[in-house]
Amino acid sequence: MRRKLAAGNWKMHGLAADLAQAEALARDLPAPAVDVLLCPPATLICRMAKALARTPFAIGAQDCHPAAQGAHTGDVSAAMLADAGASHVILGHSERRADHGEDSALVAAKATAAHGAGLVAIICVGETEAQRDAGQTLAVVREQLRDSLPDGASAENTVVAYEPVWAIGTGRTPTDAQIAEVHDTLRAALPDAGIRLLYGGSVKPSNAAEIFAIANVDGALVGGASLKAADFGAIIAAL
Ligand code: 13P
Repeated sequence: MRRKLAAGNWKMHGLAADLAQAEALARDLPAPAVDVLLCPPATLICRMAKALARTPFAIGAQDCHPAAQGAHTGDVSAAMLADAGASHVILGHSERRADHGEDSALVAAKATAAHGAGLVAIICVGETEAQRDAGQTLAVVREQLRDSLPDGASAENTVVAYEPVWAIGTGRTPTDAQIAEVHDTLRAALPDAGIRLLYGGSVKPSNAAEIFAIANVDGALVGGASLKAADFGAIIAAL
């Protein structure tokens, strides 16, 4: 049985003042029956890890460099993230694939680096609206998964998130059948039956329970709704 995971991706949102919200959520939430993870911007990882140290919340980053160290101005290595208190790192998010030209080979290299530093890699895949309209969804996510998963990916070091690009930040979500079809396809392609498979894209309190009831959905990667403590708390409770 895979334990469910509720992960919040704050993206490029959050200043030190926002830590109080996360602390209040961690303090007020009844002991969650699921794993909970918050991925703030890199600037907050250290402080958030300290603030939430004695809570069930784990802390993650949103990207890392594939190299362990070196002349890479502006980048952060997986070991540095672990050193700052992170236990997870999101990799291959569609915003990084689009904004920074990241391809799946680079995502796999980053995931290898993450594993080397003891971090759990959360590897994101998902089709664009044009790819879905063209009937390419399953081929696209299968290829992204195949090329983004590093050697040695296991239930202990890897989580996969299906995030349809057209559902991110739009308020639109796939139908239950569409989510089930992709999750069943990804599940069949995963090398370890224990690897958790999250859904991400416009998850909110009003649709969380329905999405979590779909077979092979092991949790959620939540963007906008993770910034509001009440909403993220409601999503955690729905898992
Ligand atoms: P939203 O929940 O804001 O749609 O974002 C999803 C996402 O990209 C999480 O990584």
